[in-house]
Amino acid sequence: MANKLVYFFGKSKTDGSGDMKALLGGKGANLAQMTKIGLPVPSGFTITTEVCVNYYKNGRKYPVELPSELEKAVKWLEKESGKKFGDVKNPLLVSVRSGARDSMPGMMDTILNLGLNDAACEGLAAATNNPRFAWDSYRRFIQMYGDVVMGVQKKNENDHEPFDEVMDGLKKEVGVKLDTELTAQHLQELVKRFKKLIKDRTGKAFPNEPMKQLEGAVTAVFGSWMNERAILYRQKYRIPDEWGTAVNVQSMVFGNMGDDCATGVAFTRDPANGENVFYGEYLVNAQGEDVVAGVRTPLKIADMAKDKILGAAFKELVEVRKTLERNFGDVQDFEFTIENKKLYMLQTRNGKRTALAYVKIAHDMVKEKLMTPEHAIKSGDPEALNQLLQPIFDTKAYDKAKKEGRMLAIGLPAGPGAASGAVVFTAGKAEELAAKGQHVVLARIETSPEDLRGMIAADGILTARGGVSSHAALVARQMGKVCVAGAGDIEIDYHKGVLKCKGVTIKEGEPISINGTTGEVFHGKIDTADSELKQVLVGKTLKPKDSKVFQYYDFIMKLADKYRTLGLRTNADQPDQVLNAVAFGAEGIGLCRTEHMFFEGDRIIAVRQMILAKTEEARKSALAKLLPYQQKDFEGIFRALDGLPACVRLLDPPLHEFLPQSDNKKGQEEVAKQLGTTVAEVAKMVHELHEFNPMLGFRGCRLGILRPEITEMQARAIFQAAANVLKEGIKVKPEVMVPLVGFKRELDLQVEIVHRVAAEVMKATGKKFAYHVGTMIEVPRGAVTADEIAESAEFFSFGTNDLTQTCLGMSRDDSGSFLPAYQGLEIIKANPFASIDRTGVGLLMKIGVEKGRSTRNDLKIGICGEHGGDPSSVEFCHQIGLNYVSCSPFRVPIARLAAAQAALRYPAVAPTAKVVKDSKPVKGATKSRTVARK
Ligand code: PEP
Ligand code: MG
Repeated sequence: MANKLVYFFGKSKTDGSGDMKALLGGKGANLAQMTKIGLPVPSGFTITTEVCVNYYKNGRKYPVELPSELEKAVKWLEKESGKKFGDVKNPLLVSVRSGARDSMPGMMDTILNLGLNDAACEGLAAATNNPRFAWDSYRRFIQMYGDVVMGVQKKNENDHEPFDEVMDGLKKEVGVKLDTELTAQHLQELVKRFKKLIKDRTGKAFPNEPMKQLEGAVTAVFGSWMNERAILYRQKYRIPDEWGTAVNVQSMVFGNMGDDCATGVAFTRDPANGENVFYGEYLVNAQGEDVVAGVRTPLKIADMAKDKILGAAFKELVEVRKTLERNFGDVQDFEFTIENKKLYMLQTRNGKRTALAYVKIAHDMVKEKLMTPEHAIKSGDPEALNQLLQPIFDTKAYDKAKKEGRMLAIGLPAGPGAASGAVVFTAGKAEELAAKGQHVVLARIETSPEDLRGMIAADGILTARGGVSSHAALVARQMGKVCVAGAGDIEIDYHKGVLKCKGVTIKEGEPISINGTTGEVFHGKIDTADSELKQVLVGKTLKPKDSKVFQYYDFIMKLADKYRTLGLRTNADQPDQVLNAVAFGAEGIGLCRTEHMFFEGDRIIAVRQMILAKTEEARKSALAKLLPYQQKDFEGIFRALDGLPACVRLLDPPLHEFLPQSDNKKGQEEVAKQLGTTVAEVAKMVHELHEFNPMLGFRGCRLGILRPEITEMQARAIFQAAANVLKEGIKVKPEVMVPLVGFKRELDLQVEIVHRVAAEVMKATGKKFAYHVGTMIEVPRGAVTADEIAESAEFFSFGTNDLTQTCLGMSRDDSGSFLPAYQGLEIIKANPFASIDRTGVGLLMKIGVEKGRSTRNDLKIGICGEHGGDPSSVEFCHQIGLNYVSCSPFRVPIARLAAAQAALRYPAVAPTAKVVKDSKPVKGATKSRTVARK
């Protein structure tokens, strides 16, 4: 490789800096940055992510220069630390850790105490004058190395760890309970047994040579980039495989050399609720992994202030907290070790936080001028805003549960919200029950990365051991899962499949409820209620001024509006949906699916009459019955919109969807009775309308072209509603949208009807109103002939649901049978029906935009497929210069933040998007738009 493979950080030189995350990974870049700003960081070096990428490109082979570069780096580190690898007097020991560009907590491998062998162990014992410590470090190293590098792991989910089993065996033999009761001699024996275990299980001896150990560890860390859980994690968080991980090799410092040593993890603010408090925990006389693994429940960081031995280090930590926030401009999540009272910083990164903490921290830190407004927007996870809509316990049900004494325990509140469901004890069971649609709470003694699948499937996570920085808490926070960690009174027996607490025994599958905001654990089910945000914006049962959560959220949303250039609309077909969406920030309707209105009340009877009608006359008379219903619906929508645009789509689905199918004889009998015809007639029509591929059949504009009276009725309903609402003094902006157009002529035939009806309605009512007629671009032919279609269309809206199925030739309804396997095989990275396939469907969209605007340079273009609420797709829409995205009401905040992020990331986008942005953003969702009445 031509590029530099290794970057140093230390007293004598530091090559990297905080802005080199792509090359050095987050951990490596920040270690360099901390060293630069004078924080106490043990020296070390980072092997770049490029080496990892190269390693995989070349069939898991390193660049030839790597071994010699490693050797040089170790020499440098020996000089820097004044210690030597494998030395019998004062050996250099190192940690070897992964570090991707974005942190992937717990997903990849770490090895500590590397460099120990029999001789070096003696050396460590001599240098520290503490043989017990030396042998304990040695056995920990063999255990980690054996597990991670040599693959000595448990074989089944419910097995014990093999090394733990050996250790437990020894403890029994010598009659002690705690690890700390094992003497140096015991540990020496343990080292022997661990080595034997490795030999028995792998047939290979544990390597003695430190350089060999280092090479093995580096290979294992690079290898862990492709382990199953890391791949799963990357899929979930859309981290590209191509990034690779860096490897950080750093001199060890020890938090486990006695009572003047400690190790800890801290956040500069509370990552669960965003409060400006120093938050974290530490363990005296322990190594870092003990805190994260949740094996011992640690002490609160604030308690360190009172510690006579560690008090001075605490004072230093308080200063570090300030320095980090000032320098990194965000909440930091950092690891530290205190070795003989001296503080060392081992890593820092932007802290993962819940959505609640995100909005509060961004609000506070921008106001405190510690964070830039741009970073406040960029650092949010749009998808996570969903958490703010997550339920809380219903107050009455919650009080009742308390009164009934159903509270079992209180743990640490690690992920806010309420979850109630069947308790399960394994990831497999969680997945199994969740797949059946059940709500589940995954309860584990402590979680490990192997539980990830179960954590994804569960509504809530409960652990008996571990603190707020334990794996469970960390992952839950990131996923936005409700989580209670370290509920120490709970006993879980995996073998018997029971959870016990306060004399109550709960079997797997029985209900349990957890409150991740308070840490409470309850026996039985507790009903849940709307989140605060919903109470303010949807139910309007809580005033904005009474909800801090709303105020923080609103601050971020208004900030987002300052940056975004994309407009925001919603897919809604009822006034209440419109009001919700507008409260969340929607600036109009991007898709009103009129067919949904056909199913309400008894209007379906008229729809069926229309379908079964044999003559145009009969069809018209059935449609005449429908018209007043549709008109009323549109009036309600126009009122709710209060002057914002409404894009109404003409009837789209195949007609058979409105009739009971052949397997529903009873339904057919009912229809026959309602319409005064025979079952045979109904069955015949069902047969006639049957299609082999309904999504490609008699639907979309094809309906309106062959049954023009449907289009006519719908256009009349829209325009009469517009005229009526206008009379009430409310502005209206109707847009009529023709679906599934692939030929300009199709659109022309429909446009003609719409214009004629509009003129008739204006004449009859004496009301003039502006309106537009446009089309959906949702079949490939529509996209590639967009220049022709734009001659007749005043606007486009990409129907990416249909465009995806027609571009990929994959049915949107039943591709679920193979899509997950396709993802597994990496044929596709993400579900194309959820996130735009940029190279395929995206190209059609780009062509559509370019061709459309080559005919009409101010053509307004939006998107109304499900992708309109997907952050990555929103970004793409911004990049190709769309004017707006439209999504379901509850995804509007997500799209709002995603649009702002896209604008900040890609400021130089086609100016057309800005020029024709069709309506002013709603400034502040606080402004509630009630249905205006005259
Ligand atoms: C689409 O196809 O993307 C679309 C919005 O229309 P529908 O989902 O109703 O077919
Ligand atoms: Mg469609």
